[in-house]
Amino acid sequence: FLGELLPAAACGETRTGLGFDIHRMAEGRELWLAGLKLDHPKGCVGHSDGDVVLHAAADAVLGAAGLGEIGMFFPPEDPKIKGIKSRDIVAEVLKRLEALGASLMHLDVTVVAEEPKLKPRYEALRKSLAQVWGLEPGRASLKAKSHEGLGEIGRGEAIAAYAVAT
Ligand code: MG
Repeated sequence: FLGELLPAAACGETRTGLGFDIHRMAEGRELWLAGLKLDHPKGCVGHSDGDVVLHAAADAVLGAAGLGEIGMFFPPEDPKIKGIKSRDIVAEVLKRLEALGASLMHLDVTVVAEEPKLKPRYEALRKSLAQVWGLEPGRASLKAKSHEGLGEIGRGEAIAAYAVAT
């Protein structure tokens, strides 16, 4: 699958990668975003802690590095990943990046969520995102959009995130 993709570090280029993730929301689950636990009655359902921000970012980083996507390293059917912390997924991605001799320069994430309202938490979320990825705080960006009440996200049944990594 990856045989024809030149790893970024091998060609000395700056590369970008795009990541996306979506999780269903359920009552009584913890809500983890960008490595922070938020106070909210609903949280993301998933095999891990359901951190859509870190999952989208991980796919963006792997994409930029030509390494595929997190499902290849953490198959959802693998019982060992049940309850895994998304921070551990990030640590594995960073390990693989380092093995290539590549380094992460910047992350930009857009969360799509009807609730909770994230604007008051922007600074905390951005700092946490940077910290989890081992970036200086000025090398990570996080913002949020509502889904204008439309569809599953608009009804608060799901949260999605898009990420771009350099
Ligand atoms: Mg996910």
